[in-house]
Parts: sequence; C-alpha cells; structure tokens
Amino acid sequence: MPPRATHRLDLHLVPGDLSEAAAEAVEALWRAWEAQGYLAGRGPGERAGALVEGGFAHARRDDPGAVVLYANQVGGFQVRCPECGSGLARSLDWAGTTVCPSCGGAFALEALDCRPPVARGRASLVLMDVGSTAIAEIPPGWRVVMRRVG
Ligand SMILES: [Zn+2]
Repeated sequence: MPPRATHRLDLHLVPGDLSEAAAEAVEALWRAWEAQGYLAGRGPGERAGALVEGGFAHARRDDPGAVVLYANQVGGFQVRCPECGSGLARSLDWAGTTVCPSCGGAFALEALDCRPPVARGRASLVLMDVGSTAIAEIPPGWRVVMRRVG
C-alpha cells in the first residue's frame, strides 16, 4: 500500500564518519548552512528553497549516541542482493556483513541495493517536512536518507 500523502517526509544528512566526530561534523554543517541562509534557528532560512526544492518546515540535529541505521520508517525499504537480485530483508545484518542465501555473496551494507537508500550513521542533520527530495548540496562522503514518518 503506498504511503498516504499526509505522511511527513524528512531528509537525514548522514556523515560517513562513524566515530564520535560525526556530531561535530553535523554541527559544522549546521553553522555553514546558517551562514549561507539555508537555516535560521530551528527553521528554514531565507534561502532554504535554494537548498531543497520546496523548502522545509523545521531542522534539527540528531545525535543518538551510537551507530544506528537511518532508514525509511513508514512503508519501510527494500533490500536486494547486488549480484543476483534476491530479496535480503530476512538476512540483513546492517551492522556487519549480509550473506545472500541464494548466491552466497557477502556484502557490507553500503554494497546492498537498498530502496530508498539507507545509511549507517552516528549523527545526522535532519530537514523535517521537506517539499521534495531534491537537495542541492551534499557534502562529500555524506549520504542522504529519506524517511517518511507517521
Ligand atoms: Zn545473491
């Protein structure tokens, strides 16, 4: 069943660094985006529409205190083997190596075919209630995870 249009869509920007420095990287990006007019306080700055098409309603820093899996919530996500295309939802080991029961291939999370994309991370900058998923600037090495929330 497709998600209802009333569900909010958030974008998580997740640094590739899984160390405790990830929260500092999020803080640095937050300050840079404030300086560029993308963010103001915990809301959109006057240039928010130049960052995300359609803008966003709120922004926040997410610091779960451990490495977590950032993934879609409402409607979940599909995960497939990049070699043979088999569904891997049951055998997914997001923190380690996932072994495909069909072809025997072993893959890190980053190599799997996940739709929508997922990411491991230790912190994220969250743009809440975005107008679209078209984001103009993604820092090198960062991933963008869309999350439909109830
Ligand atoms: Zn396979």
